[in-house]
Amino acid sequence: MAQRIPAQILSQHSDADVTVTSNAATDAYADTTNNGKANVDTNTRLKVAVHKFASCDGCQLAFLNAGADLLTVNRLFDIRHFAEAGLLDNRPLIERDIDVAIIEGSVCTAEDIQRLQQIRDSSQRLITIGACATSGGIQALRNMADAQQWLAEIYARPESLSSLDTATPISQHVKVDLELWGCPVNTEQLLHALRNLLWHSLPENNKDKVCMECKRAGNICVMVTENKPCLGPVTQGSCGAICPHHGRDCYGCYGPAENTNTDSLSQRFSGFGLLPEEIARKFLLINSQSKPFLEEGKKWHNQLTSQPQTSDKGLRL
Ligand code: SF4
Ligand code: SF4
Ligand code: SF4
Repeated sequence: MAQRIPAQILSQHSDADVTVTSNAATDAYADTTNNGKANVDTNTRLKVAVHKFASCDGCQLAFLNAGADLLTVNRLFDIRHFAEAGLLDNRPLIERDIDVAIIEGSVCTAEDIQRLQQIRDSSQRLITIGACATSGGIQALRNMADAQQWLAEIYARPESLSSLDTATPISQHVKVDLELWGCPVNTEQLLHALRNLLWHSLPENNKDKVCMECKRAGNICVMVTENKPCLGPVTQGSCGAICPHHGRDCYGCYGPAENTNTDSLSQRFSGFGLLPEEIARKFLLINSQSKPFLEEGKKWHNQLTSQPQTSDKGLRL
């Protein structure tokens, strides 16, 4: 017996429907010939695994925050592994044969590199979620410092720890099919990507700037009216411009947009009276390792030192 599920549950931007069947004879889980509807056979659903690396779990929680929609996700997909939700696949990683691996967190240990490679080798598609996974996240601040010195300052027995001196994005180690940015990602982004997967496709990343969403939402610009140093003009959207909506400046958690003019924006910040160190910190925060933000941050940090920075190390912020 087929069960009709409004696709709006999986995407607010679609008017197509999804048909779920339990007909084992149907081997396609998404059939676009069905008048634009997707046939989802419960016996051949896409196998999904959610993995955590170095992270705060906030992006996995954004997934779980789908609430009742998770029931629909569970009908349309075969969720094999999602530790945060209590689902554990105890088979060796390399034997799992997964269709879609979703990864939160950055690579911070030698074991991470090995585990990540096994996940990639056993997955058809790999999606990264959140700033940690896509650009290293807040923990990548140590890439610009003396990591060993930080360990010695923070831990009583730093020799008991074994971590790399850098925190790196997943794409630095394996092929990534889709990156969902944000700290955290929002639930709609995730559901939209899942819905596309029903048709064997992946969505285009939204590279539009936060300013565009801000204007469409009718927000009052906090930069123009209050001289707040907003990163919206250089940050990619998808968050709904939530910070300006609440009267605060964007701090760039969705990472750099396309065709960013960071130089012009930071000159504007300087005009507001921000010191070079403060401007550097604006760019070297959650997405400090993304190229446009890293270059702009280093440029302003270098103004603080008599010698130009020859490497990222020593950018003590
Ligand atoms: S991107 Fe942000 S919310 Fe997501 S895991 Fe990393 S620190 Fe947490
Ligand atoms: S408040 Fe920020 S995001 Fe909104 S329009 Fe102004 S600069 Fe752009
Ligand atoms: S407005 Fe900026 S800082 Fe706020 S959620 Fe959106 S991208 Fe992140």
